[in-house]
Amino acid sequence: MTEPGTHTNEVRWHKLRRDEIEAVACHDPVLLLPIGAIEQHGPHLPIDTDTSAVTEVAIRAASLLPEGSALVLPTIAWGLSPYWLPYAGTITLRPETILALISDIGRSVAAHGVQRMVIVNGHGGNAGIVGVAATQLADHGIRTLALSYWSLLGTELAEWAPGDHGLIGHAGQTETSIQLYLQPERVHADYRSLSDWSDLERLATSPIAGVGYRPPEPMTEAPNGVYGNAPLGDAEIGERIITSAAARLAELVRSLPAALRRGD
Ligand SMILES: [Zn+2]
Repeated sequence: MTEPGTHTNEVRWHKLRRDEIEAVACHDPVLLLPIGAIEQHGPHLPIDTDTSAVTEVAIRAASLLPEGSALVLPTIAWGLSPYWLPYAGTITLRPETILALISDIGRSVAAHGVQRMVIVNGHGGNAGIVGVAATQLADHGIRTLALSYWSLLGTELAEWAPGDHGLIGHAGQTETSIQLYLQPERVHADYRSLSDWSDLERLATSPIAGVGYRPPEPMTEAPNGVYGNAPLGDAEIGERIITSAAARLAELVRSLPAALRRGD
């Protein structure tokens, strides 16, 4: 907890002043590091879909926690999206760039005394690499957990957005709902009549579902760049997903073990 007089409702690391960072850093805070993607999201959603969703989840989660116990680092806007490059708007980093970036951020916050981080991922293609990044951070003495925000919801994702069969999909019912909630002015109204979206049922029931990771092959699987039932998008579903993911993340942060001390 911060000392009296230094309380702040601001949870974004980069919005704090130097003295505020110092006050928080000596009380073993957890830093949330959101990472998204800048990639095409069908004809109806903005390029920053994943980045906007994960940033919102992280900021809300930190806001639910006792003041000074969690801060949110600036979101890494870009992710690993080489398979979307044929579609306009996509900007991808190389795996080594992502690892170097997260490692440099970790080393920097460690210099200020921070020893705990959660990498909060908002893009399916980043799931593997954020695990590797967590291992690197542990090597710098930072206890790190890496997770994807939709994994916090488990089977509820399938109940709330059945059109996507329990998967996060891509620009389908789940993500369209989230964007209708977060930035409806950036969702093209034609999403309701979109016909060339690809049903996720085949992927959800395939023998490899839940077993391993295979990069998407959009040109053959979803030529229009939409995995999931976008026309079923609904702002209320989006609100439920974001609110619940943030609450679960806050709970999880509360349960994390304290920073490693000498002798641990
Ligand atoms: Zn997405």
